[in-house]
Formats: sequence, structure tokens, C-alpha cells
Amino acid sequence: MESVNLTNIPVVDNHCHGVTKEQAFGNVEAWRRAFTESTDAGMPREHVHTTAFYRRLIQALAPFFGCEATEDAVFAARTAREGKGLTAELLRSANIDTLLLDTGFPPPEDVFPVPELGELGGCRVEPVLRLEILMESLLTGYDTLAETEEALAAALEDVRAGGHVALKSIAAYRTGLDIREWSREEAEASFREYRKSALNGFTRLVHKPLLDTLLHVAFALAADQEVPVQFHVGYGDADTDLMLGNPLCLRAVLEKPDYRALPVVLLHECYPYTRQGGYLAAVYENVYLDLSYGIPLLGYGEMLSFTRAALGLAPISKLLYSSDGIGVPELHWMGAVYGRRVLGQALGEMVEYGELDISGAEAAGEDVLRGNAARLYQLSPG
Ligand SMILES: [Zn+2]
Repeated sequence: MESVNLTNIPVVDNHCHGVTKEQAFGNVEAWRRAFTESTDAGMPREHVHTTAFYRRLIQALAPFFGCEATEDAVFAARTAREGKGLTAELLRSANIDTLLLDTGFPPPEDVFPVPELGELGGCRVEPVLRLEILMESLLTGYDTLAETEEALAAALEDVRAGGHVALKSIAAYRTGLDIREWSREEAEASFREYRKSALNGFTRLVHKPLLDTLLHVAFALAADQEVPVQFHVGYGDADTDLMLGNPLCLRAVLEKPDYRALPVVLLHECYPYTRQGGYLAAVYENVYLDLSYGIPLLGYGEMLSFTRAALGLAPISKLLYSSDGIGVPELHWMGAVYGRRVLGQALGEMVEYGELDISGAEAAGEDVLRGNAARLYQLSPG
């Protein structure tokens, strides 16, 4: 089976996060924490280094650093480099055209500022606005729900002019993807509850009627402007209830006639709900499926498996590459290196099966890695 060679195609990484300015990890266990979604203390000590992802990371970084393929040697080689140099080396080697950066997490003060990250990586960086963070900042400043809604609408009046190429919601992490329409009384009561808990210093927006109501304000504006809304779907840390992170929960949003022009991007291949996400991308014109090769932290075979599922189910024009890299530049790099490789292998299989010819497979690879995202997010050249 001949793989399609996608090595030289620069990627548009349509979903990732910043790299932290502090790249010095005191010991290897602290570094391992960057490669798990678990917050349990024993995981980096006892288990993380036994995952397929982590083993592959060590195998891949050893030749990159020119060191022995052991965890100790790789960690020593990384530790010998200062943070900016390490970040530049890995991002440049990843051959990135554009990073679409969720600036909502980690906090902006912890990561390289957007222009600096672009300089380090030799790439373009376009911020994505995380809705829940904007909502929380507005909710503490206004005394009524109506005023908060007005302020939210004003902030989102022209998303692209405001410097963002997309919006992102982490409703899956908060109250679930079954985003509903609530009565005014329910939304007002939820607003009052939020204000009460905010007075006690608890400003996290986990009040479902309130969050859903504000999301509808944002969706209506995004639909008018045809600005894509990315949804965190599926795999995440234990904070997300995976039952409510199933993309099928979005049915009410997808069925609403007002939102038919709203481009919806389902992040992280909805893992483990890739087939559900692929189905939605096959059925709804406005639904796109992100294929993320950094996080979820998977083995090669599992990445190949979700890529096959996506290519076999959704139109190729709906698939978008990402790394979901966060914190350490290794994740952005691993995503690009293995994303190209896995996608090339899966497309090679399609050639073998007679579904694509070689030039069609190369064009498909280019579309998934770069072209589809450039069109969807209206990334003008240069
Ligand atoms: Zn993410």
C-alpha cells in the first residue's frame, strides 16, 4: 500500500492553543503532565510514559534532537534548549502556514503573545474568540440579563473586524451540547443565580439556561456574518461529561432554520464519537469535522482508524486538520508530522480501493491540511 506523500504541504492548524513562555520543567514527571488530560497525581508518575502516544513522542523526538531514544536523553536534550529556541525549532520544522489560536486557554499572560508566536514559528497566527470567557467578563459588569445580551451583541457585531476568524464554545465542558431555548423567566432566574455565586467569587458560567440563552445571541450574530463557530466535542479532561459531549446533542441547534448559514466546526474529530460527527458533516451542509492529531493523545493505529472513518463518511471538503497543541510546542509539531503521515496513508488506501487516483488523493490531502480551512475561515493569502 503506497502512502500519498504530503510532507511538503504547509498546514493550517485550525484549532490549537498558545505555547507557555515558561518551558523549563523541573523534572521529567512535570513534563509528562503536558501529555495527559488526567489531573490525577499518580498518572504522570506511574502511567503516562506507558501510553502509545508518549512512546511515539520519545521515538520521534530522539532523531529530531539527535539523541538516544530514551525518555531521559530526550528530556535532557529539550531541557538544554531555552524556551523560545525550542518553540521556534519545533514550529518551523512542523511547516505551519497558519495557527488558529484559541486565546481563551491557557491565560494570555502565560503564553507567548500572538505576534511573537508567529515570529517564532515563521507562520501566521489568527486568534479565535472563546465565547464563555467573553460572557463571564460581561456578566460581572452588567446588572441585568438584557444589558448583558446587548453588550454581548455589541462585542460580536463584527467578529472579523474585531480581529477574530472564528468563535469557539466550550459548552460541552460546562453544561453540555444540548443547547436549548429557555423561557425568559428561566433565563432571568439563571442570571440571578449566576450573580449570586459571582458575589461569592465563583464566576465560572455553569448555569445552563443562562449559558444557552447567551449562546443563542452569539449564534444568531455568527450566522448573519457567516463566521464559523467551533465546538469542543468529545475527548477532554475529566471536567467534561462525555455523555453530554456527544455531537448528536447539537441537533436542536443544527435543526434551527435561522442557523442554516452558521458554519459549525466539530472539534477533536468528536473523539470517540467520530462516526457521529462524520455523519453530521455528511448530512448538514454547514457542519465541518476537525481532525486533530496532537490531542486526543492517541496511538498511530487509532489515528489511522479515525481518519479512515472520517474520509469514509464525510465529504473531504468538510475535513479540517488541527493539532489542538497546547502549552508545549511538541504537540503542535507531533500533530503536523503525524497528521500528514496518517492522512497520507489513509488516502493511499483510497487510491488502492479505486476511490481516488493519485492526483485526486494529493489534492484531497492539500484540502484537508490547508485549503478547506483557508476557505472556511476566509484566510486571505499573505
Ligand atoms: Zn483545544
